[in-house]
Amino acid sequence: MDRYTFIENFNNQRWPFKTYLCYEVERLDGDTAIPLDEYKRFVRSKGPDQPQGPHHAEFYFLEQIRSRNLDQNQHYRLTCFISWSPCYSCAHNLTTFLKENPHISLHIFASRLYTRNRFGSYQRGLRELQAAGAQITIMTFQDFEYCWETFVDHRGNPFQPWEGLEAKSQELCEELQAILRTQQN
Ligand SMILES: [Zn+2]
Repeated sequence: MDRYTFIENFNNQRWPFKTYLCYEVERLDGDTAIPLDEYKRFVRSKGPDQPQGPHHAEFYFLEQIRSRNLDQNQHYRLTCFISWSPCYSCAHNLTTFLKENPHISLHIFASRLYTRNRFGSYQRGLRELQAAGAQITIMTFQDFEYCWETFVDHRGNPFQPWEGLEAKSQELCEELQAILRTQQN
């Protein structure tokens, strides 16, 4: 991904229309996580003008992961860095995927919380996803920096945080924790 696309879409104070999702896959062997570098990729949401579209980024992510047929006798960890947290519908699809694939665990780092209930209660979607074993957290400076170094064509430039990154991250983190702590739907 180029530098401008990353900053434009992952800046936690902006409201871009698209969603970008960077992911990597590791094979877990006891306490050791073995990165599978060939799986490091990113996908984005697509509009109705696309042959397969419109779909949210998670749709393409699940499609790519499913097509890999990860060995059921091994254990894998998927890590996603996503510019908007999953909507209800995508959280539901991810939940179903985790239930169908007990050999796969999922950790989602979200830059921003998607807080519209257009597709169902986003809060409930996130809680269901957590209940299915997924870890959901908000991206911190270290996560943005990791993402920059791993998925961005940075041409040797270090990650430059934008104004207010940490404060916004902290605020979203508290908001997410409150959602995940709530029992009722
Ligand atoms: Zn969605």
